[in-house]
Amino acid sequence: MTTLAKPEYTNKELFNKLILPTSTAGSLPKPVWLAEPETLWSPWKLQDEELIAGKKEALRLSLQDQQQAGINIVSDGEQTRQHFVTTFIEHLNGVDFEKRETVRIRDRYDASVPTVVGPVSRQKSVFVEDAKFLRQQTTQPIKWALPGPMTMIDTLYDDHYKSREKLAWEFAKILNQEAKELEAIGVDIIQFDEPAFNVFFDEVNEWGIACLERAIEGLKCETAVHICYGYGIKANTDWKKTLGSEWRQYENVFPKLQQSNIDIISLECQNSHVPMELIELLRGKKIMIGAIDVATNTIETPEEVANTLRKALNYVDADKLYPCTNCGMAPLPSEIATAKLNALSAGAAIVRQELSKKHIKKRASAF
Ligand SMILES: [Zn+2]
Repeated sequence: MTTLAKPEYTNKELFNKLILPTSTAGSLPKPVWLAEPETLWSPWKLQDEELIAGKKEALRLSLQDQQQAGINIVSDGEQTRQHFVTTFIEHLNGVDFEKRETVRIRDRYDASVPTVVGPVSRQKSVFVEDAKFLRQQTTQPIKWALPGPMTMIDTLYDDHYKSREKLAWEFAKILNQEAKELEAIGVDIIQFDEPAFNVFFDEVNEWGIACLERAIEGLKCETAVHICYGYGIKANTDWKKTLGSEWRQYENVFPKLQQSNIDIISLECQNSHVPMELIELLRGKKIMIGAIDVATNTIETPEEVANTLRKALNYVDADKLYPCTNCGMAPLPSEIATAKLNALSAGAAIVRQELSKKHIKKRASAF
């Protein structure tokens, strides 16, 4: 039994101490010796014991990169997973990865996917050991990402339940087991990635958000849902071109999310065509504002980041705004990802300073 590093302060205290705490949406580039760079589902370059040790080392390095960039809420950079959805599903019973069918993912592109052949269940923890390792490395608040139930069912062919809703419900129960173990070892924020929330609006409102609430049932740590327009891969950027000049997808799901038990909503805002005022529909929730575009190698200036955050402040209370990236950065060259993390920190610092000046002015005028 290893003893865990004691956090310097709790998550709640952090929010009181530091306004605009920065974080990333999830994945970060892997070292070239571990996996092929700039590729999704990149095969591992190591095997067996070496792979296990390599993943740990990569996690440690990814944490260091985030710390050097001044990121406040840190993560594992998803260094131990090949893909944000598949890796979790690989650890479950009831899914046959040999038996593959072609399905349309998020109504956007065809992919050969594994088949659900029987009841799904989790034999043992999937990420808990990795999360423990991260917890041991830092006293900073940590965030851990899991796939959301709706996004999970969307990457499978279901030959058993034959009902998207039923399968999502089963996954929600499994995710809840995993989330409770992550909370127990000291994860501060558990995030569910639900890009599918941006596509299947009727289902989201009918049962998608209910499934997510089942996944967070009984948790006392903070919970988040990440809803984006996807990684900067071609299928996604082509899809974005069809969405017109104003992206109002979020509008369909925000009212019900505002009513949900989820604490934090993570959104894509930098260079997106989402009208910022839609965020008003979430008033009261904490919002992770994506202020870094992951679909371009162009590095944001701190002032560009600050601008996005300033715009968001019209619709989010300052104590509820968390500067973040639009999505994961796994497919980016690592030096670009690092530069983008630095820009995020610098942009947040500009706005923090402005807010504290305003605060001092306000206090002064009260006397
Ligand atoms: Zn994303």
